[in-house]
Amino acid sequence: MNTIGAALQAEIDLVQRLAGQAGRPVELLAVSKGQPVAAIESAYRAGQRKFAESYVQEALVKMAATATLDIEWHFIGPIQSNKARVVAEHFSWVHALDRIKIAERLDAARPPHLGPLDVCVQVNISAEDTKHGVQPAAAAGFCRAVADLPRLRLRGLMAIGRPGLDFAAQRVQFRALRELFDDINDKGQLAMDTLSMGMSQDLEAAIREGATIVRIGTAIFGARAARHK
Ligand SMILES: *Cc1c(COP(=O)(O)O)cnc(C)c1O
Repeated sequence: MNTIGAALQAEIDLVQRLAGQAGRPVELLAVSKGQPVAAIESAYRAGQRKFAESYVQEALVKMAATATLDIEWHFIGPIQSNKARVVAEHFSWVHALDRIKIAERLDAARPPHLGPLDVCVQVNISAEDTKHGVQPAAAAGFCRAVADLPRLRLRGLMAIGRPGLDFAAQRVQFRALRELFDDINDKGQLAMDTLSMGMSQDLEAAIREGATIVRIGTAIFGARAARHK
């Protein structure tokens, strides 16, 4: 097997083992931003079907080049308003929703024949490091507003862990997101089923604390170009 195939299989094995211990299925999303089409094809040949991209133009080029493959595409980057339409037309999932104006644009632009766009609301669990994501205190209201949009299907919450934390601190932040998720489901009577959390550096902590989707790039494909850090 080639390097990507072997690395992918190692990540699948790790995720399966942790998911088994957690008693819950966990999906592995292959984050292919900053990687060439050949890398996507290698992972596809090794069995991977779900891929994630962060930049619209880059994603469109790769989609065209892999049009004959049966790939489910997830958009995990921030969305600018002038890109909402093309995202709604080309992706199955959006993970980083954090502005109601973008949610409304995605809703308006989602082609009916594609069925609802699956979305996660990004929560900012590391206020010091990023401006992206809704604040935890605002998440319930934001989720309610998204759930009311007919062409979107609210699936859950997403977060990016702070870099540089030890394992215990990684768990604390992911536990907080899971508690927020449970709270919003209970009080808001929403039936969210997805916690999108965990990347190459913190997937074990995320799965132990409730992740149902992990987004893995570097551990499968190796380092990316600098722009895609
Ligand atoms: C780049 C990226 C990932 C993958 O990160 P790795 O550390 O390479 O596994 C996951 N989620 C988001 C939102 C990203 O931007």
